[in-house]
Amino acid sequence: MKKHNFGAGPGILPETVLQQAAAAVLNFNNTGLSILEISHRSKEFEAVMEHARTLVRELLNVPEGYEILFLHGGASTQFAMVPWNLLKTKAAYIETGVWANKAIKEAKMLGEVEVLASSSDKNFSYIPKGYKIPTDVDYLHITSNNTIYGSEMHSFPECPVPLVCDMSSDIFSRPVDVSKFGLIYAGAQKNMGPAGATLVIVKKELLGKTGRKISSMLDYQVHIDGESMYNTPPAYAVYVCMLTLEWLKNLGGVSAIDKLNQEKADYFYNALDRMPAFRGTIAKEDRSRMNACFLLNDSSKEEAFLQKAKEAGIVGIIGHRLSGGFRASLYNALPLESVKVLVDVMGTMC
Ligand SMILES: *Cc1c(COP(=O)(O)O)cnc(C)c1O
Repeated sequence: MKKHNFGAGPGILPETVLQQAAAAVLNFNNTGLSILEISHRSKEFEAVMEHARTLVRELLNVPEGYEILFLHGGASTQFAMVPWNLLKTKAAYIETGVWANKAIKEAKMLGEVEVLASSSDKNFSYIPKGYKIPTDVDYLHITSNNTIYGSEMHSFPECPVPLVCDMSSDIFSRPVDVSKFGLIYAGAQKNMGPAGATLVIVKKELLGKTGRKISSMLDYQVHIDGESMYNTPPAYAVYVCMLTLEWLKNLGGVSAIDKLNQEKADYFYNALDRMPAFRGTIAKEDRSRMNACFLLNDSSKEEAFLQKAKEAGIVGIIGHRLSGGFRASLYNALPLESVKVLVDVMGTMC
């Protein structure tokens, strides 16, 4: 039986993408070669990279003046690359969870960091609002969706300085106005593809202003000049991202998936709020549509709940070790049907 995969990352991918990806391992585009053994400098692979970048541009409506890169190293490498490339003296960060914290740690190695707002006072259960953004910082860094705690920014701050966003776990889940951002990055393995590729969308005019010498692999400009192939790219991961983005395009793009994601999140949270046995952990207005975190009021029933979930074919709902309880990740590829199965199992606990 195919499982109902609520895992937070690597997350669920569309069935048709997995089939195409599997076929390409044996024979990629009738080349008689596997996608795993083909040269990244071949015209066949160059077309994959080009198509993947073009799909990102189309789906997110990326304006002129922005470059699209598929890099190695995960979002965690971006925590460092962002300050290496953009931090001259001082940067501002919003602290909304573990990932934001790691980004702050890396920035502090290269300059002054001002944490403008934090939700650490309430275990990251809300998104801070109403902070004032100084104009003397090189950029403001935010995390659009907090994968571990399950909070999400449903709107973005009006920002007088370049806005940098870690969108690892909600990119392509909804339309975003890229022109409001200086830089967006995302590890692929939550909502875009397999682990190994990291998407970066960067406004070119922001680069080259720190006066700092940057190691080649950490320098966005080097990757731009290399057309995202300065070194061997994570070829297979980029290929599967390309397939997933094609799937999304055929579905109607981000505005179509936005509606489906809203439907899934509404179905889940409405049910959660009806059930006295459970409670959500995040301020209602800041609840994530991608990672729904919740608790059983009677924690002695957790084992029984997990057992029933397992019998229903549900996997990946154990919460992160830092937040406890449960987390249902409702990424793009998760069908509403899986959410219904989870809600039915939850209903038996009441
Ligand atoms: C998973 C995640 C990361 C870390 O990604 P890696 O690719 O493992 O480095 C960073 N930020 C967010 C929001 C995430 O969900």
